[in-house]
Amino acid sequence: MSSTAPLRLRLDGGALAGNWRWLAKTGGSAACGAAVKANGYGVGARDVVDRLAAAGCRDFFVAIWDEAAALGPLDPALSLSVLHGVRDEDLASAVASGVRPVLSTPLQVMSWRRAGGGACDVMVDTGMNRLGLSPAEAMSGLLDGLRIDTLMSHLACADEPDHPLNRIQLDRFTAVSAAIPARRRSLANSAGICLGADFAFDLTRPGLSLYGGRQVPAMEGNIRQVVFPEAQILQVRTLEAGDNIGYNATFTACRSMRVAILNIGYADGYLRGFSGRGMAQHEGHDLPVLGRVSMDLIAVDLAAAPDLDEGDWIGIDYDLPEASRQSGMSQYELLTGLGDRYHRRWL
Ligand SMILES: *Cc1c(COP(=O)(O)O)cnc(C)c1O
Repeated sequence: MSSTAPLRLRLDGGALAGNWRWLAKTGGSAACGAAVKANGYGVGARDVVDRLAAAGCRDFFVAIWDEAAALGPLDPALSLSVLHGVRDEDLASAVASGVRPVLSTPLQVMSWRRAGGGACDVMVDTGMNRLGLSPAEAMSGLLDGLRIDTLMSHLACADEPDHPLNRIQLDRFTAVSAAIPARRRSLANSAGICLGADFAFDLTRPGLSLYGGRQVPAMEGNIRQVVFPEAQILQVRTLEAGDNIGYNATFTACRSMRVAILNIGYADGYLRGFSGRGMAQHEGHDLPVLGRVSMDLIAVDLAAAPDLDEGDWIGIDYDLPEASRQSGMSQYELLTGLGDRYHRRWL
């Protein structure tokens, strides 16, 4: 069934695969996986898995078991891990699923063992103090005899290459992983891949940069935009000097101007930080967002695009580093907030 939604995401499949290939190459001999949690960072997890698998990716990561179930049965050549481990509620279906939990507490390790679970992954906390066994717990004998596929840790500051915690976490992970038998070791997320070959180990786990996020200079010119929001013009109107627009009348026209009302708003993840700061684009011309972003609508200035009219489509600037500066939201939030009202269309 073809969608007639008045807003859509143009998704560049070539850029997605190209970003993965660049991250894989930059990670050297390490295998390159893909974080597809939060519905593939808002892009669409099922489509992302299919496209990256076709590009050669074999290892995928989601946060919770419902996300694993939503992907449906995967090709047996692919591996899927659930980053948030396994709770009692998950245990029976997890053991039967062939999907690996990333165990992160002593209780999880014991339940997995008792339930006769097969291969698993293990998270060790090396300084972020989020999920994971402490190095002491990991080396206490707790893991003896467990079939560990991937032993991993997660970097807190990879997007700040000079932060001293990067080296500290690397050293701790190197020490722990030398003491614990596992098929593979994994530390780096997207930005971690750019910290250098030492950080890559056997498997990397990029998320953000697959989808066009760029946090470090090395990514400029190499990581390409994947997500292009577009919205349809529902109405064109002319404001006279002194007229205002939108909630709380925060914009007042100082001349006669043509404006377009577009079908996109904060309920679609186009957040209020773009009020008076965001930009739409038509044939290379900037169309500034005027006044407040509403739940389902925005207004843009048509001065640079006098030919546009009701029913036409307009691209919204969504280059992630720039959109992050405009809105004050992180590049992650800009992706994961993208709602389900868009028609997602791959190029
Ligand atoms: C989300 C996540 C990743 C991916 O991180 P990015 O910064 O998006 O590249 C990797 N590993 C773990 C444990 C994560 O939670």
